[in-house]
Amino acid sequence: MLDTRIIAVANQKGGVGKTTTAINLGAALAEQGQKVAIIDLDPQGNASTGLGVPLEERELTSYDLLTGEQTLQDTLQDTDISDLQIVPSNRDLASADLELSSRAGRTQLLRRKLSGTMEFDYILIDCPPALGLLTVNAMVAAHSVLVPLQAEFYALEGLSQLLMTVREVRQTANPDLRIEGVLLTMADSRNNLSQQVEADARNTLSGLVYRTVIPRNVRLSEAPSHAKPVLHYDPNSKGSQAYRELAKEFLSRQLATA
Ligand code: ADP
Ligand code: MG
Repeated sequence: MLDTRIIAVANQKGGVGKTTTAINLGAALAEQGQKVAIIDLDPQGNASTGLGVPLEERELTSYDLLTGEQTLQDTLQDTDISDLQIVPSNRDLASADLELSSRAGRTQLLRRKLSGTMEFDYILIDCPPALGLLTVNAMVAAHSVLVPLQAEFYALEGLSQLLMTVREVRQTANPDLRIEGVLLTMADSRNNLSQQVEADARNTLSGLVYRTVIPRNVRLSEAPSHAKPVLHYDPNSKGSQAYRELAKEFLSRQLATA
């Protein structure tokens, strides 16, 4: 078995499909025989809700993992899906940025907790919509960054800021940090702008952009209110097919770069 591969799902824009991708890529990887953990690093806790961990059952959270004595094992919870576990989050995490701002080693907190975690094939970190201390902690702990990109006009501008943060993290705490891939989300093949953004992204970023594109699909947006990944809410939907396809492409890239 390969070592655990840690992947930060990041983009400082909200609503671009980070959480949807963390949950559904996670579920699709688990379906394909991988052992997966998701760390919900967004105070909004959408990944926790989407995977069926109600607020009142989030006694230990990613806040404790980051700031306390708790280990990864202490904070992990099972989901209804075998081989998919989650470290949930809640509003406690919202104060972490400020609370930790003067602590020594504040960008290394998550990395320390994730060293030597060999029982998972993949750990996906669902980042908040900002490039603050939480996302930096994820990038410092990670092997790579997976960037969901919503197929809309300003998508590529936001990306240059994100790549700048990746470069800074490389220059300081994590020289080996890679871009895992860029994923086009909420694409609409009948929409010219959506097609144009896809073409631009492929031109500028070439091999980084996944061949798989996630279409806009209403089942994907309904699934979280049923506390399930779309693969379990509607296994045959376009959204499920797309995330299964992504998982395959993702795994074949792992082999290619191993
Ligand atoms: P982020 O985590 O980047 O803020 P989310 O994954 O929460 O973004 O997605 C934002 C909203 O869009 C959510 O309501 C989600 O259900 C919906 N959504 C995400 N991806 C799709 C898609 N491919 N098709 C339709 N709705 C989507
Ligand atoms: Mg989110």
